[in-house]
Amino acid sequence: MSFYRPTWAEVSPDAFVSNLQQIKKTVGPKTSVLAVLKADAYGHGATTLAPLALQNGAAALGVSSLEEGIALRDADIKAPILILGGIYPLTNFSVALDHNLTPTVASLEAAHALQVAASKQNRPVPFHLKIDTGMGRIGVSPSGAKPILDWLRHEKTLKLEGIYSHLACADSDPEFSVQQLKLLEDVVAQARAFGFTEALAHIANSAGIALGTPFSLNMVRPGLALYTSNFPVLSWQTKLIFLKKVPANTPISYGATFRTQRDSEIATLPVGYADGLPRLASNKGSVLIRNKRCPIVGRVTMDHTMIDVTGVGATVGDAVALIGCQGAETLTALDWADWAQTNSYEILCGISKRVPRVVLTKGDKRG
Ligand SMILES: *Cc1c(COP(=O)(O)O)cnc(C)c1O
Repeated sequence: MSFYRPTWAEVSPDAFVSNLQQIKKTVGPKTSVLAVLKADAYGHGATTLAPLALQNGAAALGVSSLEEGIALRDADIKAPILILGGIYPLTNFSVALDHNLTPTVASLEAAHALQVAASKQNRPVPFHLKIDTGMGRIGVSPSGAKPILDWLRHEKTLKLEGIYSHLACADSDPEFSVQQLKLLEDVVAQARAFGFTEALAHIANSAGIALGTPFSLNMVRPGLALYTSNFPVLSWQTKLIFLKKVPANTPISYGATFRTQRDSEIATLPVGYADGLPRLASNKGSVLIRNKRCPIVGRVTMDHTMIDVTGVGATVGDAVALIGCQGAETLTALDWADWAQTNSYEILCGISKRVPRVVLTKGDKRG
């Protein structure tokens, strides 16, 4: 891949595989792993990581939309792909079936619509039933599950492959999570009693896996942990493209929100909010140059960001880490999330299409 502007993101297959192996070890051999690759694998590149996930023991993949599922099928991915998002309009179930994508059913109405689409197929159509146990997003209420399960007993065109729910407070409220787990388990028990003995029960996202094995059930759905848990998979790099010495009281960037306090060296980086560098990190965040944390000064602009490199010995062309390591220093997506009052998911997904993703070859060390 070639690009001219020296701003890029490196993706490490080794780190991704290590994280997956760690998750597999945590949940044990009886629980399968559905690797969540939605939002282009949280900005890492879904078509790059899908084959790696499957070669290294993921049983299935999860994406958000039909579009994301079709993109993986177009990349010749044959494994089961669960569409986690709500499908609308319900006539789009036929699109899922045309591409052999496994839809989520989140209401009785949706179950009926899937049955209509499935009746045109000459095979039982697998799907997963979503139960809303406390997320309040999509899903059948626990009490609404029974009529659906009852109706499904006589529907030979449909195959209930999974029953699942999503944790709302996995990283903040274990008691709330236990209640959610209990609600799902009650629905699963009902399904088992109706003869759906094979249906996979699943509730755990990354933070749910960390809550312990009772949450792992038959399958887990890690997303973030695949990208950031032990080994950060993505590092975001740029270079110093402009450097100037300025006297005290020099205004920097839009709104002149920063003025130098002393004789200063101010560097310019070719990266800005159109690349996903949060504007909220203006006058707040830092980057790594010459193994040192150097502060962002003034507002992050669309295409450029200024850094105070006074006394660092920086020169034009220096390597700059936005996410990654230099010497003993590390910056993570979580650092940017703290500066921008958000979470690491939004930082990673927000790294825009304008930033080329460079996939490191296996065994390559991240630079
Ligand atoms: C995004 C998502 C996941 C993965 O969540 P992480 O917190 O990234 O592990 C799992 N399940 C569903 C339904 C999701 O939407």
